[in-house]
Amino acid sequence: MSETNGQASGMCAVFGCPLRGTLGSDGAWYCFCHYGKPSVFNDAITRELREKQMHIVLSTIDIWQHFSSFYDAPEAYRAIQNRLIAADRRDLLMGNADCSAHRPGKPIVRMWLQRLDRTLIEATADIGEQKRIASTVPTAPIIGPTHASNFHPYADGAAA
Ligand SMILES: [Zn+2]
Repeated sequence: MSETNGQASGMCAVFGCPLRGTLGSDGAWYCFCHYGKPSVFNDAITRELREKQMHIVLSTIDIWQHFSSFYDAPEAYRAIQNRLIAADRRDLLMGNADCSAHRPGKPIVRMWLQRLDRTLIEATADIGEQKRIASTVPTAPIIGPTHASNFHPYADGAAA
């Protein structure tokens, strides 16, 4: 696998994002984690993916690059299993750790990929949602007349 800088073709349009761009919007392609999120949260989502979910990210890319089939690449399948085990995510294994890569058919691998994708979506789902309340965005003061009856914006010094 060649190194990518996150901007290679086929990748998510968000700078530094390690995922594939699979959802189109305004002429660009985004990953399922960045798609539809306000761009102000792009970096936070990318950080979550790169710093905490990379074992899953790499696994989804591996599966995708093998076209959801490991019949001719059982070692690639084992590498994914081992990576998830090393990251203490046995719950994300396709089957048992020693499950044969030759046994499961394509639909099962596809379902596995969807499960990994969904895990990434859930890991980034609350970025830009619930956590917005806890952020330090200042509340803008109310501008404009608050008392319609006797308020004039130029009342002081603009009598002429
Ligand atoms: Zn992305």
